[in-house]
Amino acid sequence: MKLLEERIRQEGLILSDTVLKVDSFLNHQVDTQLALEIGREFGRIFANEPITKVLTIEASGIQFAMAAGIALGVPFIYAKKKKAVTLSENVYAASVHSFTRQETYQVSVSQKYLGPNDKVLIVDDFLATGAALVGLVDIVREAGAELLGVGCVIEKSFQEGRALLEQKGVRVHALARIASMSPGEVRFVEDEDD
Ligand code: 5GP
Repeated sequence: MKLLEERIRQEGLILSDTVLKVDSFLNHQVDTQLALEIGREFGRIFANEPITKVLTIEASGIQFAMAAGIALGVPFIYAKKKKAVTLSENVYAASVHSFTRQETYQVSVSQKYLGPNDKVLIVDDFLATGAALVGLVDIVREAGAELLGVGCVIEKSFQEGRALLEQKGVRVHALARIASMSPGEVRFVEDEDD
């Protein structure tokens, strides 16, 4: 998505070879028009799929899941994140290890809102190591729902997340795919040949 790539080039802060900060327009302050356009793009990509729910993880996936839900005309659910504690019985849960924060937390979704009749699109802001999204994939499968795809706003293609999801048979779509980055330069996957 060209508009998104331009914003990343203009406003993205590359903190290291692996961490990109996009706080000015994506996940702290949010450009609402861009978020809606991102939702419409997911809507176009998955238009032929009979999606019944969009699923994301709090907090920074919420605005994109909402925008995708609006575009597809379906509700969205955000999985709740907690430090590992005893969970009640009426939730689906998965354990996620965050490599950026070096901590393990639990994500959970109420069994009231996801079940075997659901066809799910998972949406999130970043695909990096894939740990967070694999947790959501596990929840969808535990619920007996059908997973129709994963849409992420930014994929850092030099990390292992996409391969991990594809090994699980998941269709992955990213709107901006970063091939490599270093302070002052971002290369997108499409740019590789130019
Ligand atoms: P994972 O490694 O599980 O794929 O990524 C987990 C979460 O870490 C993402 O949903 C995102 O919120 C955050 N994250 C990973 N890499 C980056 C990054 O380069 N920049 C920002 N802002 N967040 C990131």
